[in-house]
Amino acid sequence: MKSVVIVGGGVIGLFTAVRLAKAGARVTVLEAEGEHADVFGPGASVAAAGMLAPLDESATPFTPLAFESFDLWRQWRDGAEWADGVRFDGGVRVADEIAAADVVQTSERHGRRAQVLRSGQFRKRTGLNAEHTAVFVEHEGVADPQRVLSGLAMQARAHGVIIEYNQDVANVTASAALTHEDRVYEAEAVVLAPGVWATDALKQAAPALRHVSAARGHMVSVKLERPLGPNVHGPGFYLAQRREDVVLGSTMEPGRFDRRVDQAQVQALLAAADAALPGEVQATGYAWCGIRPMSPDGWPMIGPSGDGLFVAAGHSRNGWLMAPVTAEIISAYVLGGEIPDRWAALSPQRFESQTA
Ligand SMILES: Cc1cc2nc3c(=O)[nH]c(=O)nc-3n(C[C@H](O)[C@H](O)[C@H](O)COP(=O)(O)OP(=O)(O)OC[C@H]3O[C@@H](n4cnc5c(N)ncnc54)[C@H](O)[C@@H]3O)c2cc1C
Repeated sequence: MKSVVIVGGGVIGLFTAVRLAKAGARVTVLEAEGEHADVFGPGASVAAAGMLAPLDESATPFTPLAFESFDLWRQWRDGAEWADGVRFDGGVRVADEIAAADVVQTSERHGRRAQVLRSGQFRKRTGLNAEHTAVFVEHEGVADPQRVLSGLAMQARAHGVIIEYNQDVANVTASAALTHEDRVYEAEAVVLAPGVWATDALKQAAPALRHVSAARGHMVSVKLERPLGPNVHGPGFYLAQRREDVVLGSTMEPGRFDRRVDQAQVQALLAAADAALPGEVQATGYAWCGIRPMSPDGWPMIGPSGDGLFVAAGHSRNGWLMAPVTAEIISAYVLGGEIPDRWAALSPQRFESQTA
């Protein structure tokens, strides 16, 4: 039974832990923060909207992997401890007729259904009292981050994973992680999933992590007259109905590391929503922000880095969406499975000739 240490207990670390444990590995997750993270903590995973929207990145060669990951979400949900934290109600994108037809075409190119909505249909489909031409994309969903993260932790433990909270890793080698409290965790493989928070020591051990930069994003909790069906994407905003709240997101602020809420950013999101949906979206007074771990091309780095280490980082705007396929890929690397070309394309090597 192969032993694996995973550094970082966000959505990437936890999905990977579950996948490896199911394949028979003995897994320990080391997480610097406490067990009950909330949106004001440092983890991007808790702060996120949790949209599972593979079509968002339609223009890149990695889009098939986004759909692959989306399909894994659906497959893995059945019977999972986090099942009630995920919805697959599709997504509605406000778009003029030409843009809507374009989305339908792109969607069909990936073998997925999409349907142009005339203005009356927009209202019926979303429950929002506004008229827009739009397009309905069937393959979309949303995860409720806090609910799914705690379900993932339960699932991981049920498969024998040890999760050690409040264990801040100071340094790593290919066969051990050393915490700031001088605890040593030995393993046959070490996977780094630290989000945007890798220290210089971790970057030195796994140079891929030097390519991860920060982009702050604000989220706003809102109220609507009626429950929202699918996710809604409008100009400069999106809305998603989660189990207990509706969230309005999100700003993209590259280079920002601080997590203080900026009211100007909150107002900009509310104004964008109000411009498209007049009078429909009410602020609850609750807003937060998180830091996305960005990669240079917006797609994750998954694979070997440094001397025998593995990295799963830089998931940018799509860490929730890409978590299951990340877990599959890391699992194949660690357990010696086959790495098809489409997975190898996400290797950190694609940035290795660049200086960070
Ligand atoms: C506002 C916002 C909205 C977003 N919306 C979406 C969305 O709708 N859909 C989507 O797919 N993605 C979305 N994202 C992106 C997504 O949240 C991230 O890509 C994803 O959460 C990254 O997960 P992670 O596990 O790599 O990082 P994190 O969640 O940041 O987890 C990393 C963990 O590693 C721990 N750690 C770091 N260093 C150490 C160490 N040395 N020792 C021990 N532990 C350590 C940290 O404490 C942290 O808990 C959004 C992000 C933000 C900020």
